Amino acid sequence: MKPDVGVSFCMACAKVSAALARQDPWLIAVLPHSVLILGDHQAFEGYAVLWSRRHAKELHHLDDADYGGLMQDLKKVSKAVDDATRCAKLNVVSLGNVVQHVHFHLFPRSADDGQRLSHPWVHEGRFGEAGSGDLRRHWVRAIQEALG
Ligand SMILES: [Zn+2]
Repeated sequence: MKPDVGVSFCMACAKVSAALARQDPWLIAVLPHSVLILGDHQAFEGYAVLWSRRHAKELHHLDDADYGGLMQDLKKVSKAVDDATRCAKLNVVSLGNVVQHVHFHLFPRSADDGQRLSHPWVHEGRFGEAGSGDLRRHWVRAIQEALG
């Protein structure tokens, strides 16, 4: 399944296409209805984003098969990120205000995070921290292994 590219350019559709072509170095997995890519920042180690392969602005715009398949993918990758990071709590967030293409942020919250009862954006000032190449490769591999 290829992503549907709408009338106007969608950066997420371009990202999904690059991932499907194995051109994204931070691709973790291609799933039936989505792609899982390590997040641009590692303010939360193991932070990853699940992108729908089908373009849709809203979850309810997906047909039942795509919605159900995406939820199965989300369940699988949530467990994998949780298992790989052994986080205290996994925050799964879908906003889409900036990038209007269905996607889910998976934020592993550490027990050492003094603000872990707050939403992840309390750490927005650290969202520029991409992490070293070694750190990023570590989390790609760890989550891939957890996915089996
Ligand atoms: Zn799109």
